[in-house]
Amino acid sequence: MREFWFRAVLRIAFVALCALIGYAADLLVPALIFACALLLIGSLRDQFEIGRFDRWLNSTGEAELPEGGGQWEFLFAKLARRERNARHQREDLRSRLERMREASRAMPDGTLIMSRDELIEWLNPMAEEHLGLDGRRDIAMPILNLVRQPEFAEYLQSGEYGEPLSMPSPRQPGRTLQLRVVPFGDDQKLLLTRDITQLEKLETMRRDFVANVSHEMKTPLTVIHGFLETLEDALPDLPQEQALSFIRMAQQQSVRMQRLVDDLLTLSALETDTPTPEEQVDMRNLLDIVLVETRALSSGRHTVSLTVDGAPGALLGCARDLRSALGNLASNAVRYTPDGGTLKLDWRVVDGGGEFSVTDNGIGIDAAHIPRLTERFYRVDRGRSRETGGTGLGLAIVKHVLERHQATLQIDSEPGRGSRFTVRFPARRTLTC
Ligand code: ADP
Repeated sequence: MREFWFRAVLRIAFVALCALIGYAADLLVPALIFACALLLIGSLRDQFEIGRFDRWLNSTGEAELPEGGGQWEFLFAKLARRERNARHQREDLRSRLERMREASRAMPDGTLIMSRDELIEWLNPMAEEHLGLDGRRDIAMPILNLVRQPEFAEYLQSGEYGEPLSMPSPRQPGRTLQLRVVPFGDDQKLLLTRDITQLEKLETMRRDFVANVSHEMKTPLTVIHGFLETLEDALPDLPQEQALSFIRMAQQQSVRMQRLVDDLLTLSALETDTPTPEEQVDMRNLLDIVLVETRALSSGRHTVSLTVDGAPGALLGCARDLRSALGNLASNAVRYTPDGGTLKLDWRVVDGGGEFSVTDNGIGIDAAHIPRLTERFYRVDRGRSRETGGTGLGLAIVKHVLERHQATLQIDSEPGRGSRFTVRFPARRTLTC
């Protein structure tokens, strides 16, 4: 602006100077004509520059600002600088927006923005998936016309968003969503959606686990408590033989509880993230221990044999866990095979990987139960499992040990004919001599 006034004053001074010189030289009229001509040329030039500037203003896209001359050069330079800054700001904003969009696309949770009238303004792909919406088709549509569960309508209209809402997914049967509304800005609302199916499953498993453990503990505790009460009340009159039998039965129950606690501790240790030790476990030694323990458990009621195909070699892993897993499979075979049955333990190396199997001709398992056998506390026949001292955790322990050794378990069984449990260790864990 100062520049503009400076030039205006300069022009007036120029005309005055021309008039003064003209007057002094007695050439006032020609001097004034000369001055006016120059001013006219200046003003034509101004018009020309204004025209160029106007054309630039009306141009679309990112046309370069004209350069201009004289006082216009200064003005255009200033405008060009401002325009450059604005363009940089626009680009910066665009790239920020793009990054925001990318982040929202990558978000594992759904986000949806709605207006004060509950019309959909924007949503990310996860919200589309969770709510079964289409990011292009459904913009500006009332959300309640598209997500029609009554509990959602009630939650949205209640205005009380302190607690999130859990409801079945409108489009994916069997999945559960958690929705939370967050009011913001000018009466707008942010709807956050999260798939909590897995969380719910874990919570149910946790609840079932606590209920199962309590139940398993309660039975022996009740029995022990009953015996102790009887002994307390009737000890003086109770024949010694009967008192001793009560004590033995109470002891049996405490052994059962001890076994349960041991198995629970084993499971919990297996579930921690501590890496599996990579000891060289001598298979000859391990198989002999399992054989001796199986025979001891059977006490001569079954024919137990061990076959080793070729040199037994070694396994890379945790000796204690492997002994527990293979031992559990062998002890199950004893417990679920009637007296007089046959149990076969086998070890062989197939395609570089170790294969251990336990085959029995016991009661067998109905195919419907097989996929669930490794779940904690899953039993085909609860009574039989308890009678034989089972905790319902044996195969869950086997599963965890095998997972930690990248091994697999295959169960083949036929009710009334017997079962075969086969464990396969990968070649990288099998050392052959
Ligand atoms: P449990 O302590 O009850 O034996 P497990 O986890 O070891 O628990 O086994 C789960 C269930 O699998 C058992 O209750 C039993 O019904 C079945 N089972 C396991 N091994 C055998 C087998 N060799 N023959 C028949 N049933 C078996």
